[in-house]
Amino acid sequence: MTNHSNKKMKQEIRCPHCNGENIVRRGQRKTQNRGIIQRYGCQDCNKRFVVDDGFFKMKNAPQKVTLCLDLFYRGISTRKVQEHLQAFYPHNSSNVSIYKWIIKYSKMISGFTDNLKLKVGKELQVDEMEYKTKGRKAWFIDAIDTETRYMVSSEFSKLRGRKEIRKVIIRAKQNTENQIKICTTDGYTAYENIVKKIFGYSLKTHTWNVTHNKVTQLKGEGFNHKVERMHSNIRARTKTFRSFHGSVKSANAVMKGLSIYYNFIRAHQAINCCPYELAVPELKLGVNKWLDLIKLSKQNN
Ligand SMILES: [Zn+2]
Repeated sequence: MTNHSNKKMKQEIRCPHCNGENIVRRGQRKTQNRGIIQRYGCQDCNKRFVVDDGFFKMKNAPQKVTLCLDLFYRGISTRKVQEHLQAFYPHNSSNVSIYKWIIKYSKMISGFTDNLKLKVGKELQVDEMEYKTKGRKAWFIDAIDTETRYMVSSEFSKLRGRKEIRKVIIRAKQNTENQIKICTTDGYTAYENIVKKIFGYSLKTHTWNVTHNKVTQLKGEGFNHKVERMHSNIRARTKTFRSFHGSVKSANAVMKGLSIYYNFIRAHQAINCCPYELAVPELKLGVNKWLDLIKLSKQNN
């Protein structure tokens, strides 16, 4: 049996005092920067509260912040996003603030999405992509489910050693439970024992739970082509943020946001929907998916 459901996922407003579900709207509050904020009342404990939708005490409206995230991950530089805002919003924001929002909300959302239980196919493809930022090398390691195209796990780091690869594969296993039967990687030797060990050995069948399908360039065309296409897309998309500002940590957050963009925001041509619609079918998102993901991260943290 596979257990891919996210039973604990909260999608409704609950009382922060007693966790009650009988919630009614009770008045509104006007704020200077974020417009009108809805107040709620709990019919179980009779307390009033406002929902921290992820924008609590922010100087900018959720629409403006999520617009920045959306433009950025569609390939617009923070400087151009800033120019756009300047033309349409009275309160000016610097491109540094915009970059900070991107990092903050990418981290916030990935705290939620990294732990989603996924409904996937049999084959996981893991690959690494090399980055050069200001002359320094860095790596983006990712694992993609070939059926739903969902990026199950990813990590941006200075190295692509055993530690980094383990991290990606351990999370992939946690979120897919025992659905994966084949794990395809390139010939990089670090994968050798990691894949087998993490997915484990079955004493019942006396076989490894997952077949490690190691593909070397020598085997010719078609190798890892789904992941490779994904990578060329990512390369094209990350041109505008190729030289990441700041630390590897913040670059990791930016790349987390990119995987959120791929899984939740952008419709994938091959499957004609967003990967999350197949991999997390119980998740319902509205028109502004960034906004809904931020709210969900707050409700489920
Ligand atoms: Zn209550």
